[in-house]
Amino acid sequence: MAIESEVLSLPDEKSGKALQFIEEITKNTDPIQERVLANILSQNADTEYLKRFGLNGATDRDTFKSKVPVVTYEDLQPDIQRIANGDFSPILCAHPISEFLTSSGTSAGERKLMPTIDEEMDRRQFLYSLLMPVMKQYVSGLDKGKALHFLFIKAETKTPGGLVARPVLTSYYKSEQFRKRPFDPYNVLTSPNEAILCPNSFQSMYTQMLCGLIMRHEVLRVGAVFASGLLRAIRFLQLNWEQLAHDILTGTLNPKITDPSIKECMSNILKPDPELATFIKAECSGENWERIIVRIWPNTKYLEVIVTGAMAQYIPTLDYYSGGLPKPCTMYASSECFFGLNLKPMCEPSDVSYTILPNMGYFEFLPHDDSSSTTLSRDSQPRLVELADVQLGKFYELIITTYAGLCRYRVGDILQVTGFHNSDPQFRFVRRKNVLLSIDSDKTDEAELQKAIENASELLKQFNTSVVEYTSFADTKSIPGHYVIYWELFMKDSSHPPTNQVLNQCCLVMEELLNSVYRQGRVSDNSIGPLEIRVVKNGTFEELMDYAISRGASINQYKVPRCVSFTPIMELLDSRVLSFHFSPAAPHWTPERRR
Ligand code: AMP
Repeated sequence: MAIESEVLSLPDEKSGKALQFIEEITKNTDPIQERVLANILSQNADTEYLKRFGLNGATDRDTFKSKVPVVTYEDLQPDIQRIANGDFSPILCAHPISEFLTSSGTSAGERKLMPTIDEEMDRRQFLYSLLMPVMKQYVSGLDKGKALHFLFIKAETKTPGGLVARPVLTSYYKSEQFRKRPFDPYNVLTSPNEAILCPNSFQSMYTQMLCGLIMRHEVLRVGAVFASGLLRAIRFLQLNWEQLAHDILTGTLNPKITDPSIKECMSNILKPDPELATFIKAECSGENWERIIVRIWPNTKYLEVIVTGAMAQYIPTLDYYSGGLPKPCTMYASSECFFGLNLKPMCEPSDVSYTILPNMGYFEFLPHDDSSSTTLSRDSQPRLVELADVQLGKFYELIITTYAGLCRYRVGDILQVTGFHNSDPQFRFVRRKNVLLSIDSDKTDEAELQKAIENASELLKQFNTSVVEYTSFADTKSIPGHYVIYWELFMKDSSHPPTNQVLNQCCLVMEELLNSVYRQGRVSDNSIGPLEIRVVKNGTFEELMDYAISRGASINQYKVPRCVSFTPIMELLDSRVLSFHFSPAAPHWTPERRR
């Protein structure tokens, strides 16, 4: 099978062919992986990177594995920076780098820059084209209506060398493949392109919600990329239903919607509909928002959102608003590479497994166990396992080699093998390494939190006060969620305690120190609420330790958990709170990178 040509020319209309294609590639995992690696290595044989490791044009796995090291983003950063600065020689990839995709994973506080090439867009498009054929096997009639899918673009910048840098979905929604997609009855959106492509997040969300309400009987599925995005849309409806109902009653568009292309396209969609306006008022004016999704969109068959990984925290809230509709997690992907899909999308979130497709890139797996985190061979290079050779039940870190020039790159995701489809393994997404706190796409690690706390606590010095212990919690009870930091303070002079104003300011200082994805969520996307500090009584963290020891923790090895979510611990902490403090302003954020 000629993988490349199959990949790039998969007939879009033929579901049967798509399923057959999945069957074929999953029966040939290992040979396809071997071919993919050979293709990547021959394509990139003359790159500076592969030459640096003396590959000399070799395309076999053994030479590749013996010569090319496993790397992190930080290892590649000097090369990536050269590309960003405008060096267009073949450094990582023989093909010209078309743009940078900005990952939600950060390095030194800024989004990682992932170089990509034009043909990767086709590979991403290919994976998308498989989703509906899989879904159609489980849900019928999806061609008889529309999808209310809240899709947004985010800010983009240019690197010093003039390449665009933007998130992968922004790149996709702005592409011709998306904007000029041929009509497909299974993929009709209620949202017009003009709304999806509007850079103003309020105007975009408002218009998408308005269209969803107008077409409410046609809606068969409701979704967003991540669960947090869909809940933000529900919150938006709570805050804006009166104006939306007014627009529908009068057939006139909210004057806050100023985008000319949205105004033009809505003039064809928005007509006075007093009956619908009355219905929206009746549903939204009450206190009870339980099952609001199925009340407003009664034909919804499922919610299309990712609820695996950090998003699992939103499942109870989604169930509340949807009356427990199925939540198929359809795919597993990243800025670096799209990996695979869920072949049983209607399963319970806890049973979701992703089948990594062997034609998307070359995949290796670093055995992972929590005690030793990496397995090293004698020459201290990690011992990696092939995609076809992973073992059922085992945990691995995903390592990828891509057509765009990443070689043996550690993505940072920990996966567990749950089964096989033909010869192709399926994985449960376990977690992202080193992520302590996450509300939306932000990923804050322990070191960042520690640094933020150190800086904020400088403000306490004038009160002879220091932070003796801390922990944190991602509070998603209200939408948007926010970070809560519990502080136990030591005051040398209790007659002169830190003022409320200073403690509020500490919240803001912490936010300023957090990564750009966090600050973008606070400032531009409104997907994260103001950071909160809860000051707890002296001795609280000792009680926390006593509690852990009573549950079997070793007194010698006990470490304060830097993030908590276990209910009894939360209850203990919350029962000892002396004062609550919130960030008084939004931190700074602009699309420009700080470095
Ligand atoms: P980004 O680089 O910003 O595109 O983020 C990609 C990361 O998001 C992946 O490496 C995962 O950590 C996470 N992710 C993507 N898809 C899923 C999924 N289906 N379930 C859980 N986490 C996911």
